[in-house]
Amino acid sequence: MTTKPQTLPDLSLLLAIEELDQKRREIDERLKEIPARRERLNAELARLDRSLSEKEQSISVKEKSISTLELDCKTSQTQEADKKVKLNSVKTQKEYDALKEEIELANAERGKLEEKILLLMDEISELKNLVKRDKQAAELKKKEIRLELDALAATEKALQDQSQAANVDSQTRLQALPEDALREYKKLRAALPEGRILSRLSAEDNTYYCSACNSPVSHQIVINMKKRLSLSRCDICHRLLYL
Ligand SMILES: [Zn+2]
Repeated sequence: MTTKPQTLPDLSLLLAIEELDQKRREIDERLKEIPARRERLNAELARLDRSLSEKEQSISVKEKSISTLELDCKTSQTQEADKKVKLNSVKTQKEYDALKEEIELANAERGKLEEKILLLMDEISELKNLVKRDKQAAELKKKEIRLELDALAATEKALQDQSQAANVDSQTRLQALPEDALREYKKLRAALPEGRILSRLSAEDNTYYCSACNSPVSHQIVINMKKRLSLSRCDICHRLLYL
């Protein structure tokens, strides 16, 4: 399949533009991966903070439990003091014994409360040590992540600049193309919005191939190409062929 523009466009110009477009696409592909990477790093930062805050929360819950237990102890002590005063004014031995038993029971109960308080205090002290250790590790990890985020932002900026520069370069080169070459380029680009629009002719054992799709190319096309009679395309993938 051949086309006959008025003048044969300089394929090296189109090739240079295609190289730029290809480069920009590669840069854009890398740029596309950045938001997901940033999201993963930010999620890791949030996870570290959440894990620490959960442990701190657990300490605060235990501290509240201690306050409640201490209050219960105090109430029990006040009641005991009242009962001890009452002991002096009871009239029968039976009343006396009953009151005495109540006081002993309350005492035993208070002992249990105090044990619980001590246990909670131990747990809190252990948790505080754990939080201290985790906090140090988390701070180090967060510092690493923030550095990684900074590097990612710098990479993103550099890639955006490169992409923009390649785009400007490509546009400038497109504007400098002869009209028919530009038309040809646009037509090809529309048919193949992604990927290459030019394909190098490759030869093996006197057979010629389109290097993009590996289809054989007829000798007539090769002759036309060598004589620069017309623009030649691959019959299969329709890319412009160049030598
Ligand atoms: Zn082809």
